[in-house]
Amino acid sequence: MIKTARKGIVGNGIETIKNLSDSLSSENYHGSAIFTAEPTNDQRKILEDICPTKALFSIKENNAMGLDNGKCIMCGYCSESAPQTIKISNKPAIPAKMKSQIIDYSSPQTLPSEKSYEQIGNELKEKIQKMFGRSLAIRQVDAGSCNGCEIEITALNNPIYDIERFGIHFVASPRHADVLLVTGPASRNMAIALLRTYEATPDPKIVIAVGACACSGGIFGDTYATTGGIDNVVPVDVYIPGCPPRPEVLLQGLLLAVNRMKT
Ligand code: SF4
Ligand code: SF4
Repeated sequence: MIKTARKGIVGNGIETIKNLSDSLSSENYHGSAIFTAEPTNDQRKILEDICPTKALFSIKENNAMGLDNGKCIMCGYCSESAPQTIKISNKPAIPAKMKSQIIDYSSPQTLPSEKSYEQIGNELKEKIQKMFGRSLAIRQVDAGSCNGCEIEITALNNPIYDIERFGIHFVASPRHADVLLVTGPASRNMAIALLRTYEATPDPKIVIAVGACACSGGIFGDTYATTGGIDNVVPVDVYIPGCPPRPEVLLQGLLLAVNRMKT
């Protein structure tokens, strides 16, 4: 039996994936909503009404529409209601340092070229070694999430993504952390805990908002029970859109955050 098990394990070879761009996103994966045409007046009204998180909004001055990826939960209602105007792509939305940078508009625009997971990771490893010595320590803070974002964050440690090979590891205490990776809309009950965690993290530190909830309140919105996004509680360096964001997008967000500390 041991012989069979050993054969099975060794027979699998190296599972870690170098380039994820083609392999792991199925055609049906909801990565982001994108405009394919300029919406008509009627469509703008329908889209604004149907979007549960108010991610879609009209720009009256030029009859255009905006799509806030920091609010989008990838439900697909918009594309079902106006398939000629908006479609759900399997390509994820890209992290950014400012909230305004995660908004797309219905007028045409050029998207930045994509990097492979391996490229992003190695670039990040180089920067971390220069700035923090040998490694980057992350403390994850769940400020009221549904656990979807945590599942993707946990996947960073599995043999497929294996984030430790880039010198990044998770720690149990904010006092040992360089980065706070925060999920959830910051529920009122978690606001003080989040603030204390932030204060307990030594400088220089980076705060990353992970997922639509942390970016804007997401599906939970801004209600009596939530703060409507973690930047209402602590300063945020990078916003990672998605519901939840994929592991390679999380890594892209980390790279962006380290870039920010240099500037
Ligand atoms: S996918 Fe859902 S949340 Fe995102 S823009 Fe469309 S309707 Fe709004
Ligand atoms: S962004 Fe989506 S997956 Fe992440 S905590 Fe919010 S609802 Fe859950």
